[in-house]
Amino acid sequence: MAYQQSRGGRPNQGYQGGGGGRSFGGGGGGGGRRGGGNRGPAKKYIHPSKFINKAVSKADEVVYESKHKFADFPFGAQLHHNVASKGYENPSAIQDQAIPYIIEGRDVIGLANTGTGKTAAFLLPIIERQSGITLRPSVLIVAPTRELAQQIDEQFREFSRGLDLYSTLIVGGVNIDRQIRDLKRRPHVIIGTPGRLKDLMMRRVLQLKNMTTLVLDEADRMLDMGFLPDIRQIVNEMPEERQTLFFSATITPEISALVNTFLKDPVTVSVRTSETAEHVEQDVIESRDKAHKLEILTEMLGQKGYEKVLVFGETKFGVQRLSDHLDNSGIPSAAIHGNKNQSQRQRALKQFKDERVRVLVATDVAARGLDIPNVTHVINFDTPQTYEDYIHRIGRTGRGGARGHAHTFIDRR
Ligand code: AMP
Repeated sequence: MAYQQSRGGRPNQGYQGGGGGRSFGGGGGGGGRRGGGNRGPAKKYIHPSKFINKAVSKADEVVYESKHKFADFPFGAQLHHNVASKGYENPSAIQDQAIPYIIEGRDVIGLANTGTGKTAAFLLPIIERQSGITLRPSVLIVAPTRELAQQIDEQFREFSRGLDLYSTLIVGGVNIDRQIRDLKRRPHVIIGTPGRLKDLMMRRVLQLKNMTTLVLDEADRMLDMGFLPDIRQIVNEMPEERQTLFFSATITPEISALVNTFLKDPVTVSVRTSETAEHVEQDVIESRDKAHKLEILTEMLGQKGYEKVLVFGETKFGVQRLSDHLDNSGIPSAAIHGNKNQSQRQRALKQFKDERVRVLVATDVAARGLDIPNVTHVINFDTPQTYEDYIHRIGRTGRGGARGHAHTFIDRR
């Protein structure tokens, strides 16, 4: 092994190989970019010790003992059948705790990250309730990214198989006329991202007056992405009498304020697992400059055990260049970032999910909320903007009881 990881919390001394003359990525050159000078808000400095955690707990400590079985939930036979067909045996913590309240009709704040089964927690009661509803559409689900919206829609279709229920996906980056046509057919459930939803609302194609249920998924991310004004506008068009289900991985003062205006007498269900980080072995890798980083990365990816690797870069251009570089070095990779259109992103994601490529290079925004099972390693090629972003990134590995690995490149000092 040509690079070493740190021991006992000290950053390692890095790769000792040759210098290499290539330069790479936006900004170029060696040394720290922290503190600004380049586009976007200044990065907050995060001490490297925060990227190190060797004391990960054992995988089998995460098993949750559910109080309910799926059979305890008052679902119709077909819905029970569909849940079983998905291979779900026991409800996850968020499902176990939130589904009874959602069935009761309560507003719910679910503090849960992706990977906890939160999607089924809100979809199953929603699907069950559709049998009694005549005015359509009755449910609006809002998510921060197209990919997350798409994943919710896929799950909806699987869970509602054989039930004659229809959903429409309303996301940006795809043809709007088709969405207008779809909306005119009055689907039961609308799943979308804030910008496009608002657009269709303004055109009066999307009518929210008969809605009974609003789901805001990954609300904290939507706020981070600047969607608050759109969300407010959407919520203002919803009837006052409705059920609101609000999911967020974090609860900040801003989130609390939103909850107070959007929800009525909510119950909070928290399955927030600081555990995401606890099951991820984290370490830093020192490098001299970009070329050196590339060298180390290429070598790492050639090693055994790096089976499904998510690499994070800072900018869309940097991510694409990194992916191209890996391809040229004989490591086929896929890339997702804001410069790719919807079908390109989907193709990239599918290649990675189906394990046709071992490496997916992504920006934070493009990777948000994605449910990708069995990621073995997260590599922070560029350090994240904030510690929150870091936790989100590394939460992609070490899921479902597996042990994950996270490596963060830092500048050699
Ligand atoms: P989510 O947090 O909703 O994105 O779900 C994460 C993953 O867990 C998805 O692949 C789900 O299909 C899966 N999942 C959700 N609930 C269960 C369950 N009760 N049993 C097994 N897998 C589940």
